[in-house]
Amino acid sequence: MTLHKKRTTDILSDDIFDSPLSETSLPKFELPQHSQGAREISQMIKDELLLDGNARQNLATFCSTWLEPEVHDLMNISVDKNMIDKDEYPQTAEIESRCVHILAKLWHSPSSEVTIGCSTTGSSEAAMLGGLAMKWRWRKHREAEGKDTSKPNMVCGPVQICWHKFARYFDVELRQIPLDGEEVGMNPDKLKDYVDENTICVVPTLGVTYTCAYEPVEAVANALDTLQLHTGLDIPIHVDAASGGFIAPFVQPELRWDFRIPRVKSINTSGHKYGLAPLGVGWIVWREVDDLPQELVFDVDYLGGNMPTFALNFSRPGGQIIAQYYNFMRLGFDGYRGIQQACMDTAQWISKQVEAMGPFDILYDGSDGLPGVSYTLKPGDWGFSLYDLSDRIRMRGWQIASYPLPAHRDGTVIQRIMIRHGVSRDMAGLLIADLQRALDHFKTHPVSDSSGGHPSFSHN
Ligand SMILES: *Cc1c(COP(=O)(O)O)cnc(C)c1O
Repeated sequence: MTLHKKRTTDILSDDIFDSPLSETSLPKFELPQHSQGAREISQMIKDELLLDGNARQNLATFCSTWLEPEVHDLMNISVDKNMIDKDEYPQTAEIESRCVHILAKLWHSPSSEVTIGCSTTGSSEAAMLGGLAMKWRWRKHREAEGKDTSKPNMVCGPVQICWHKFARYFDVELRQIPLDGEEVGMNPDKLKDYVDENTICVVPTLGVTYTCAYEPVEAVANALDTLQLHTGLDIPIHVDAASGGFIAPFVQPELRWDFRIPRVKSINTSGHKYGLAPLGVGWIVWREVDDLPQELVFDVDYLGGNMPTFALNFSRPGGQIIAQYYNFMRLGFDGYRGIQQACMDTAQWISKQVEAMGPFDILYDGSDGLPGVSYTLKPGDWGFSLYDLSDRIRMRGWQIASYPLPAHRDGTVIQRIMIRHGVSRDMAGLLIADLQRALDHFKTHPVSDSSGGHPSFSHN
């Protein structure tokens, strides 16, 4: 058979694409019987991954896609370290703890050197931990008063999916305040209609996923202060600062959203978003030690002592934590500020360019929330929908999300461009040129009516 002939006639050929394996398809549903060459299999898998989008051009994500070579080195030497083995890897545990206190200080905890917090796989796990602590705290309080504890709820604006998960997995009613009119986040005036004695916490988002806008944490706290004055209800705040936790302290330092507000008891952030660490790390920090109920903490042996841990996972990679610490030491405050400010400037530049193109109404211009831009298509027949534009621009590798706003504003479709570390002004210029080229194309080749209610799957 041909395959054998090749092997015998040219036994020394080690070209991957001359190997028997390269003339077969990889099994999709079962483990192959025999071992295969590392080099050949690795190449075939790399080739398959070519079909993924190019991460650097993915302007739909908030996550890090640019990492210094030193981060790759640190990740490489940490690939075999399990961060949960605090006894075996005490320095990784020490570095995790330093990161917690650095964040506590950055977010103005009144006891930043002693307060408690931990790393997680991302903001989703951190949100679960924050929500659980709130639920426990509320329940303990209710039990002490001899009151019913069967109907906990939490109140928020348009939250990320992780809070829907938290609510369902941990049996908490999610009360989302819907967006009305031109609102892009929670309206604190409406809070009083949603909170009650069973509210475990209010969760404002610093950097709403849909719109990039910050929800007004201080105004939310003030509304809850007023509520307490009238009703005696003392409802704590957890801030979901998945993205904003690493933007606001650097480029909007005067904005009061963190532990400067006494009602803010815990904050989560994603190290792998604007924390600039590689994928797989988030953080949660409590304002003070007492804000985390002790029943939730497990003690792990640690160098003959005890290491308190609170997490949903057990085994987890240590490299992301080490890389986070590297970024803190490498960049310092000024480095983070410089990078985040450059992202904000580029977002605002893009916003101006997009507005000047004509068909778009800017919804968020990148000036006072996250470094991103969101916009809608002006009413009228433009010959394309935002979904068509996303499709068209994808031909050049750019990935830009188009989606409807959440409940009450779900008739509004928006497009969102996220700017992150590694998106230079030059790269932004290339994107703008491609957007303009796509608009020119649609002028002569209209693809659909621009009402755009639903994703268009036509690729003509
Ligand atoms: C991204 C995001 C999350 C989820 O974070 P992961 O790190 O992806 O788990 C939660 N909340 C907000 C506001 C986010 O932007």
